Amino acid sequence: MARTVAVIGGGISGLAAAWELTRPGAEVHVTLLEGSDRVGGKLRLEDVGGARIDVGAESVLARRPEALTLFEELGVADRTTHPAAVGASIVSRGVRWPMPRGTVMGVPSDPESVRGLLDDDEVQRLIEEVVDGPRAGDLSVGDLVDARLGPAVTDRLVEPLLAGVYAGHAREISVEQAVPSLAAAARQGRRLSDVAREAVAAAASGPMAALPVFATLVGGLGSLPEVLHARLTEAGCEVRTGTVVRALEADGTGWLVSSGPTTAVRREHFDDVVLATPAAPTSRLLRHVAPAAAAALAAVEYASMAIITLALDGPVPPQLDGSGFLVPPTEPLTIKASTFSSSKWPWLARAHPDRTYLRASVGRHREEASLQRSDPELVEVALADLRTVLGDALADPAAAHVQRWGGGLPQYAVGHRTRLAPTRDLPPGLALCGAAYDGVGIPACIASGRAAARDVLTRVETARTPLG
Ligand SMILES: Cc1cc2nc3c(=O)[nH]c(=O)nc-3n(C[C@H](O)[C@H](O)[C@H](O)COP(=O)(O)OP(=O)(O)OC[C@H]3O[C@@H](n4cnc5c(N)ncnc54)[C@H](O)[C@@H]3O)c2cc1C
Repeated sequence: MARTVAVIGGGISGLAAAWELTRPGAEVHVTLLEGSDRVGGKLRLEDVGGARIDVGAESVLARRPEALTLFEELGVADRTTHPAAVGASIVSRGVRWPMPRGTVMGVPSDPESVRGLLDDDEVQRLIEEVVDGPRAGDLSVGDLVDARLGPAVTDRLVEPLLAGVYAGHAREISVEQAVPSLAAAARQGRRLSDVAREAVAAAASGPMAALPVFATLVGGLGSLPEVLHARLTEAGCEVRTGTVVRALEADGTGWLVSSGPTTAVRREHFDDVVLATPAAPTSRLLRHVAPAAAAALAAVEYASMAIITLALDGPVPPQLDGSGFLVPPTEPLTIKASTFSSSKWPWLARAHPDRTYLRASVGRHREEASLQRSDPELVEVALADLRTVLGDALADPAAAHVQRWGGGLPQYAVGHRTRLAPTRDLPPGLALCGAAYDGVGIPACIASGRAAARDVLTRVETARTPLG
C-alpha cells in the first residue's frame, strides 16, 4: 500500500511540497490540509472594480529558477510576463527621486547615483567608508551600514528596500540572512561599496544579465495556486480546504493528525507529515513532538500589513509615470510603498484599458497601530498620502479594496539561522517548509517546499529498500 503523507498548510510552500510529492514515480498518497477556504496563502486574487487582480504577492524573482521552472511544469509558462521597462522611485525629504541603479539592497555601487536623494554631507560620508577590520558573527543590516556608510544610507536607501521584502526594520534584520554578500564583506573586513560594485558588475555580465529581473503570470500571480490546486487534484492529491489542523501526535508508526472544528475533530493516521504553516501554528503543532523546535519557532516575530488597491476611471494619468515608489520610515507618511500596477504590468493595462489600478501598502513590524483603522479609513489615509506624493490632481477611486495580512511576513532577527537550528533536527517522518526558515520570497518558498518533500521521499525510498 502507498505511504500516506499529510501536507499541512496550502500556501505556495505547501503547494510546492505537494506538487513534488505527486510527481510520477513517487508512490505516496498525498493529502493537503488547508485551514482557510482556499489555497494560496499570501498569493490571492480579488475582484476590484471589475477585474480579478493580485491583492498579495504579485511578482517573482526571475533570476532564480524555482518559480519559472514551476510555471513550466504546470504548463503555464506561456502566460509568463514581465514588468514594463519603467523606473521606480524613492521619496526623500518630500521629493521623488529615481531609484538609484546598481545597489545591493540599497548599498550604492556608485555614490554619485544617490546624490540628491542623500545630501552632500551624507554622500561624502558614504564615500569615506569606515572599515574597522573583520567582524565575526551576525549583526543587523542597519548596524553594519550605519557603521560603515552612515545612518542616512540605512534610513533613506536600505530601509525602504528591506521593508519592501520584510516589512521590517533594517536595524533588526539579520545581515547573514537578508544580504549574505554584505555579511561576507563584514566577515572579511572588505568595503561594502566594493562588494556592491562587484555584485553589480557580475550581474551585468553574467549569464542572467539579459533576463528580466521579475516575472508574473498574465491573469495575476494569484492564479498560480488555482492552477496548482487543479493539477494536484488531477494527480490524485486530496486537497481539503476549510480544514484547520489542531494537533499532531506520534502514534508509533507515524503521526496522528487532528483537524476540523473543535466540536467534530477528525483524527487520522499519516506515515509522514510536512508542516508548511507559518511559525506560530507550526510551533503549536510541534509542542509535544519537537519541543526545542517549537520553542525556537515561537520566538519568530511577524509583521502585519495591509494592501490597499484603488481602481481609477480612465487610462493611466500622467502622475503614474513609473512602476511606483518606496517611502523610507523617515518620511512623514503612513504608506510605505505604492505600485502603479497598470503602468508596471502591461498585461493588466491591456486587459483593462479603461481602468487604472494602483496599490499602496501600510504596516511595518511592530507598527500595528497604523492598521488599527477601518477599511474606509485605510483607503482615505492611502489616498491622502498618494496625493501628498503625486499631487492633488489624482482622481478619487471608482473602487477600492483593502486586504489585511495579519502576520504577513516573518522577521529574520539577528541570529535567526542559529536560533532555528532545532528546526533542522526533527523526529523522522516530519519535515518543515515555508517563509519562516530561509527566504520569504516565492522562489525560496518553492525551494523549501520541494526540499521538504524530497526529505519525505528519501525516507519512503529507504523504508522500501530491503536491508542487506
Ligand atoms: C502583502 C505581501 C506581498 C508579498 N509580495 C511578494 C512578491 O511580490 N514576491 C515574492 O516573492 N514574495 C512576496 N511576498 C512574500 C511571499 O508571498 C510569502 O513569503 C509566501 O507566499 C509565503 O508562503 P508560505 O506557503 O510559506 O506561507 P503562507 O502563504 O502564509 O501559507 C501558509 C498557509 O497555511 C495555512 N494554515 C495556517 N495554519 C494552519 C493550520 N493550523 N491548519 C491548516 N492550515 C493552516 C494558512 O491558511 C496559509 O494558507 C509577499 C508577502 C505579503 C504578505
